[in-house]
Amino acid sequence: MHGLMMHKQLLISSLIEHADRHHGDTPIVSRRVEGDIHRYTFRDCHRRARQMASALTGLGVQPADRIGTLAWNGYRHLELYYGIGGMGAIVHTINPRLHEDQVAYIANHAEDQYIFFDMTFLPLIKLIAGRCHTVKAFIAMTDQAHMPTDAGIDNLLCYEDLLQQGSCDYAWPDLDEDAACTLCYTSGTTGNPKGVLYSHRSSLLHTYAAALPDALNCSARDVILPVVPMFHVNAWGLPYIACMVGAKLVFPGPALDGQSLFELLEAEQVTLSAGVPTVWQGLLGHLEVTGQRFSSMKRTIIGGAACPTAMLHTFQEIFGVAVLHVWGMTELSPIGTIGTLKARHLVMSPAERNAVQSKQGRAVFGVDMKIVGTDGVELPWDGATSGDLMVRGPWVVRDYFRNEGECSPLLEHAGQTWFLTGDVATIDGDGFMQITDRSKDVIKSGGEWIGSIDLENIALSHPSVAQAACIAAKHAKWDERPLLIIVRKAQAALTREDLLAFYDGKIAKWWTPDDVVFVDTIPLGATGKVLKNCLREQFGDHLLVKVVS
Ligand code: AMP
Repeated sequence: MHGLMMHKQLLISSLIEHADRHHGDTPIVSRRVEGDIHRYTFRDCHRRARQMASALTGLGVQPADRIGTLAWNGYRHLELYYGIGGMGAIVHTINPRLHEDQVAYIANHAEDQYIFFDMTFLPLIKLIAGRCHTVKAFIAMTDQAHMPTDAGIDNLLCYEDLLQQGSCDYAWPDLDEDAACTLCYTSGTTGNPKGVLYSHRSSLLHTYAAALPDALNCSARDVILPVVPMFHVNAWGLPYIACMVGAKLVFPGPALDGQSLFELLEAEQVTLSAGVPTVWQGLLGHLEVTGQRFSSMKRTIIGGAACPTAMLHTFQEIFGVAVLHVWGMTELSPIGTIGTLKARHLVMSPAERNAVQSKQGRAVFGVDMKIVGTDGVELPWDGATSGDLMVRGPWVVRDYFRNEGECSPLLEHAGQTWFLTGDVATIDGDGFMQITDRSKDVIKSGGEWIGSIDLENIALSHPSVAQAACIAAKHAKWDERPLLIIVRKAQAALTREDLLAFYDGKIAKWWTPDDVVFVDTIPLGATGKVLKNCLREQFGDHLLVKVVS
């Protein structure tokens, strides 16, 4: 027998509709690319999002069409989140920090019909425009006064002009909640970037769970500033959460340095912020120099990479800002675990509490997790035994977008289907998961991925290189940086400088390895694969002990 409750589809458009109806006057504040501050309200945002949906319909955009964005955190990007997703098309947020070849690959793989971009990224658009085969027009997210005069792009449109063509009377369609609404590519696995395609339903369920008190604890009394980019897993869901709870939103635009962030945090009396550890290092460094203190910030969400214990201490003991240490993945929409303390932790000393919070935290309701040993047996939650971390849940990826011919990211274990995260972890008796290693072959620098395979392939194409391995070496500022381990061909006189210069133009500049170590042999496993864990053990601290020029 079925229950007798209404069946209302869980849709992205309902979030902005709710925000307009119940929190219509709540402000959204954005630092624009031009440097000035823009202010309006949820009501304005809803009107313009509908207008944009109507304008896109006029352009011929159909449900399920992919529409790319190359944009900072700002109000126009938010309008696109709701305008595109709400009309049934798919917002494809593209990471502008990638090399132009990868951006073009991603746009073509997604078959983007239009690409919206912030003016900062005009040079990137010029590089890729002729290579994006499905894109009908590029839309500059600005007004007529700021449009470039000599961009050299044939099919260039202006955001504000396009918006004016749309009707404010547009009504959101009643979509199937399982329809896709957002697409985000991750380089977090080897090979080409892979697209994670979120549905309306998965996004809504993630939003409910993420807003809970023991999760991000968001409310209408909050002022939220997401430093984490909207091009990276929907800024961890904060643009959705803010609408659900009616929190004021503050967008930093492109100004992510310590001083600009601090000014905005203070001016807008932000209570909750979110970002990767590297961003907070910049902010804390600024405060150390100026001696300034936060007057409103109560909590900060730190994730994307492990939060160092020293950072926990500084935020909590020196500045009185509670840290929410979060672990997640693009494949998890992204939130998996959050380090909110249980009652029994509250009586601990600050140092003991920080040790608990250094772990990646407890699973939020909706995410089931376990650790499994190399023999396939589930491991105990004793805080000491580590194994491969697996997760399952309604906002965990089922397959990658257009993953034709590639193997599934899922596996069967003990009669259930699980997603293998590529992280290696322990789980303690309180359910706190701690990442101890990573089995996937990637480097995470300042919260952004660098593909070790790509770097190895380039090294191997150098005529003097016999063998190459690239590992994540620990780095004081960026958490991890690429380090090349190289076996030279006999008699080859290859130098570190020659090899690093060989990367020029082949990858984004910031992907260039920090150093090269020349060795006689590289350890191989039984199947001939490089034993990266041995190399990490041997050379993992290389960049900490050696100051590289
Ligand atoms: P992404 O898909 O770019 O969000 O990256 C997800 C990966 O980042 C995870 O699989 C982890 O390897 C790493 N990661 C995310 N959050 C944390 C954290 N709090 N501590 C350590 N590693 C993390």
